[in-house]
Amino acid sequence: MSDRYAVFGNPVGHSKSPAIHQAFAVQCHQQISYRAILTPRDGFAASVRGFVAAGGRGANVTLPFKEEAWRLATRLSVRAELAGAVNTLLFAGAETLGDNTDGAGLLRDLTCNLACRVAGQRVLLLGAGGAARGVVAPLLDARPALLWIANRTAARASDLAQRFAGRGALAGGAYQELEGEAFDLVINATSASLAGELPPLPAGAFASGSMAYDMMYGQGETPFLAYAREHGAARLADGLGMLVEQAAEAFYLWRGVRPNSAPVVAMLRGTERG
Ligand code: NAP
Repeated sequence: MSDRYAVFGNPVGHSKSPAIHQAFAVQCHQQISYRAILTPRDGFAASVRGFVAAGGRGANVTLPFKEEAWRLATRLSVRAELAGAVNTLLFAGAETLGDNTDGAGLLRDLTCNLACRVAGQRVLLLGAGGAARGVVAPLLDARPALLWIANRTAARASDLAQRFAGRGALAGGAYQELEGEAFDLVINATSASLAGELPPLPAGAFASGSMAYDMMYGQGETPFLAYAREHGAARLADGLGMLVEQAAEAFYLWRGVRPNSAPVVAMLRGTERG
């Protein structure tokens, strides 16, 4: 029988994780099954317990459960501990190991796949939810000139900046405070694009030659990327590469083999066009 894996989220119907992990499994000759589980907003822990009882070996966690997954884990990797959010669970006997592969996935996509420089750049991170929490430490490790976190609920951005104080040049607060500031790299880690909405970003946020990166992915241009294009960003990227890279890191944790992500990104881009 195949080893069972799943992604827990709400909504989760749009998730490409099942296709990605099935493709990794074929590529790496691993016998696994992987499905998406639509999880009630007040039923995350119960759903995970049910999955483990039915033989589940590991799971991915997507919005809005990453912080709850952090609390559910009985043991945390260093990067998950730092992030305060978990996107990957490994069930081993009585232990539930929590990891966070989002940051590694983003940095790998930015620096390896997109040849985007982070060192010495002014970087703006939009959002302070589970996804944003996972990428702050790896972004700071890449030594930007400044990492500014902006969020609709400003206190969450300030708290996040506070959490990483001392690890690099960091600021956090409300969108209004961005007036007059320009950035070389603007990363949208809000879920606004999911609802077809746009974070309230000042028009001048994109410096000349800047890159706009939306963690959201899907068919067509997201509202954030359309706004970025209209307001001077020179390069645009969606989060499909990050998605595949964070999945590769999770697959490695679960199976001990590292898949090649490039053909899986190409497959998904082909599916989107088709
Ligand atoms: P989350 O924990 O629910 O956080 C959502 C964040 O979005 C919060 O900061 C929230 O602000 C903000 N937000 C929601 N609607 C907004 C709006 N209309 N205007 C401005 N801000 C808004 O979700 P998450 O897990 O961080 O996920 C965020 C996004 O990243 C999702 O679209 C997800 O699909 C994507 N993601 C992609 C990858 C990838 O691999 N490509 C990985 C992780 C996440 P408040 O704090 O004010 O509520």
